[in-house]
Amino acid sequence: MATMASKRCYYEVLTVTKTASDDEIKKAYKKLALANHPDRNPGDQSAVDRFKEAAEAFEVLSDADKRARYDRHGHEGVSGRGHAGGGFQDVGDIFDMFGDLFEGFGFGGGRRRGGAGGRRATQGDSLKTELTIDLLEAAKGCTQPVEIKRRELCGTCSGSGAKPGSSAATCDYCKGHGQVVQSQGFFRVQTTCPACRGEGKIVRDKCGDCGGSGRNSEKVKLEVRVPPGLDNGMQLCLRGEGEPGLNGGPRGDLYVEIHVKEHHLFERDEQNLICHVPITYSQAVLGAEVEVPTLDGKQMQDIPPGTQSGEVFRIRGGGMPDPRGGRTGDLLVEVHIEVPKKVSDEQREVLLKLAEIEKANVSHHRSTFFDKLKDWFTGETSN
Ligand SMILES: [Zn+2]
Ligand SMILES: [Zn+2]
Repeated sequence: MATMASKRCYYEVLTVTKTASDDEIKKAYKKLALANHPDRNPGDQSAVDRFKEAAEAFEVLSDADKRARYDRHGHEGVSGRGHAGGGFQDVGDIFDMFGDLFEGFGFGGGRRRGGAGGRRATQGDSLKTELTIDLLEAAKGCTQPVEIKRRELCGTCSGSGAKPGSSAATCDYCKGHGQVVQSQGFFRVQTTCPACRGEGKIVRDKCGDCGGSGRNSEKVKLEVRVPPGLDNGMQLCLRGEGEPGLNGGPRGDLYVEIHVKEHHLFERDEQNLICHVPITYSQAVLGAEVEVPTLDGKQMQDIPPGTQSGEVFRIRGGGMPDPRGGRTGDLLVEVHIEVPKKVSDEQREVLLKLAEIEKANVSHHRSTFFDKLKDWFTGETSN
């Protein structure tokens, strides 16, 4: 929890002036809340913190009374009243208070707004699955079927969990709220009701098909559209393909983790692809046109005379597309001089001849090299 001293000025948090109108404050908060919305920043704790900080600032500055107190006495003037004292502990509380502001933005607006009977509409659980594709599918994009197990509302009891003809009774322990307030020393803590586990209802006559849970596990087949360029380990989010919500809450999402199979010709390095192509000694010395594989089939690549083993030739745009819409990567063709394990009689004859010529040409260099080597082992220095 942030201490008083470390709290930022609420006007600064919302980037508005001290004379900002209610409308300006609302606009500024909405902008911040949407940018740091948990749905847009899954797993990003700093976004959650900014989201909470903005909500705390907005709670105070949007209320004329609290704002006046804050202007006069600073953070102390509004501490201990509402959420503003210690900030929001739970993102769900923010949706409860300001959920209406988010409507129409494609988010689960009032993710957990209070339902008709005082029970909260809760978003269903999100699910995760994996999908393995090959490199070519990753490069071009594809549509693939996935099969998941998902709990769906029981058709027999329509999700109530009660035997048809009977109905669930309101939980006595929490009076149907699903939440109970417990005192722990100085603190009052709101927790999920242990008797009904937050459902607000107790089923006495259980539905035979779902055992009272209101849900049945089902196998569901879905088509997943994979956009071009996704890399190993990236995740796709299928909105609303998770489990159904409670009390009219929205469905959860389905996260699909992508695995890209290794390819026998191409190695991926971010957006670039690397391909190792063998060439012969004579091709390296004399230059050649060699056939190289690309994502779109074969292509001829010019190898200039005097090419060294390990040299890289770049085919622009021959790599992977950027899933974020940036530049497509390149194909890096790395050539390697291959030494044959076996040669024909004719090749041997030519090579012997070559060796003879090379010996005649380089004997001087070779002798100095071997002299140096000898000195190295005997420890003598030579110039
Ligand atoms: Zn049922
Ligand atoms: Zn209860």
